[in-house]
Amino acid sequence: LRINLNNNSVMELKETLLKIKKELRKYIIVSIRVVYNTETYSNKNKNTIDELKEFYDTAASLGYKLSNNRYYNRSCEACCDEKVFYITPDLGIWKCINTMSLENGKIGYINENGDMIIDAKRMLEWYSAADCFDEETCVKCKRLPDCFGGCILHKSVYGKRACTPFDMTSLSYFYD
Ligand code: SF4
Ligand code: SF4
Repeated sequence: LRINLNNNSVMELKETLLKIKKELRKYIIVSIRVVYNTETYSNKNKNTIDELKEFYDTAASLGYKLSNNRYYNRSCEACCDEKVFYITPDLGIWKCINTMSLENGKIGYINENGDMIIDAKRMLEWYSAADCFDEETCVKCKRLPDCFGGCILHKSVYGKRACTPFDMTSLSYFYD
């Protein structure tokens, strides 16, 4: 259950989470992120990363699991972890769908027979770009546990890490 904080209070979050039956909550993984501004989205958001603990505590106390997927806590968190990919309406198979004009994240497609056709070269390139542990600057960087090498697409397209100034947190790992 993905929750975007955009001028939301803890009470609002609680009211929403209480709508789901108690016995089902242990099966639901909650991912909470603060909405940030981009080139095309500009809004004054009073929620900040500093208050995430309050939101996490609320979700955990109501019986939900919290997402500690390491990729969800990256820059814009849509880049998939090992077991995840996206299927687009044209039956493309993608690892990142945030910038469709840059096809480095497209690792294959589904053909007319319903078979998955994987571009192994593209897939290996993606996972290679995802692996920040082969880079000395990342391994020595104090932000590594939060950043995890940053945007995979950026690395894949430009050959270097973005080191973005986005808010990031590995706080959710402590709720496991
Ligand atoms: S901030 Fe830059 S150097 Fe540090 S872990 Fe992230 S990508 Fe690597
Ligand atoms: S690869 Fe980069 S652009 Fe794509 S979802 Fe991840 S952080 Fe965002």
